[in-house]
Amino acid sequence: MKLPLPTLQARSCAGLSFLTDEALFGACGVRMGFTRRGGGASLPPYDSLNLGSHVGDDLEAVRENRRRLLDAVGLGGTRLLMANQVHGSSVLSVDDGSDEKLDRVAAQADAGADGLAVSVPGVTALLCFADCVPVVVVSASGAFAVAHAGWRGAFADIPRKAVEALRALDADRGGDGSPFRYNAYIGPHIMAECYQCDSDLVSQFVERFGPECAWDGDHLSLDAAVRASLLGAGVAAERIVSAGVCTACSTEDYYSYRASGGVCGRHGAFAGRKE
Ligand SMILES: [Zn+2]
Repeated sequence: MKLPLPTLQARSCAGLSFLTDEALFGACGVRMGFTRRGGGASLPPYDSLNLGSHVGDDLEAVRENRRRLLDAVGLGGTRLLMANQVHGSSVLSVDDGSDEKLDRVAAQADAGADGLAVSVPGVTALLCFADCVPVVVVSASGAFAVAHAGWRGAFADIPRKAVEALRALDADRGGDGSPFRYNAYIGPHIMAECYQCDSDLVSQFVERFGPECAWDGDHLSLDAAVRASLLGAGVAAERIVSAGVCTACSTEDYYSYRASGGVCGRHGAFAGRKE
């Protein structure tokens, strides 16, 4: 089976709004998306659909927001798997939906991880963002990976590692695991014109991922770095889609660490598949 080429559409459900790919859902049953900040229970400055529990927000509100999200996107009743994101490049894999295995992966994720790759139904992977780049990769087999790429993760090639984790899961299940058939989705993040960085850092990215990474001498395009990492892993260029939205320019809809001075909630990137 071949996946339809990736697209992202805004969809609203139960007061929540998110970007998703309906054709992908129709083809392989994977519901993926990038959440917006409306429709949640959190109060300012975390208003309102804050999904992060390490930002100072009321934890009851965060739990309620996660529940609302799963219900709104049709993934209620799945096991929610999150990670303590540490700007590293570790991707954890889930190939067994038993409680024992999921408890073990959840403990590993709590110790620190920036990617989750899942091949079984009944599990939703959710990571949190405020400017960093959310990446979701999906296989026609119904396996998927969600990764968090700030500049450290992007530089450490976490998008490529997410694709490799997905390939390994597909291979274990007898699939062909061909990355050029995977769909890759790049979510809202801080875009180059708003992402001023040390010029040495920009130079290091150019050296590793190519000249497209430099918007100018001191502005870094994480989008270009993530694309280069995905292409390096074998993903086809026409199967990479980007939301093309800058979080720092769109604080009505998204959280921005930079634009908010560091105190804000977290929007999410998620993927899951029902039994
Ligand atoms: Zn911007």
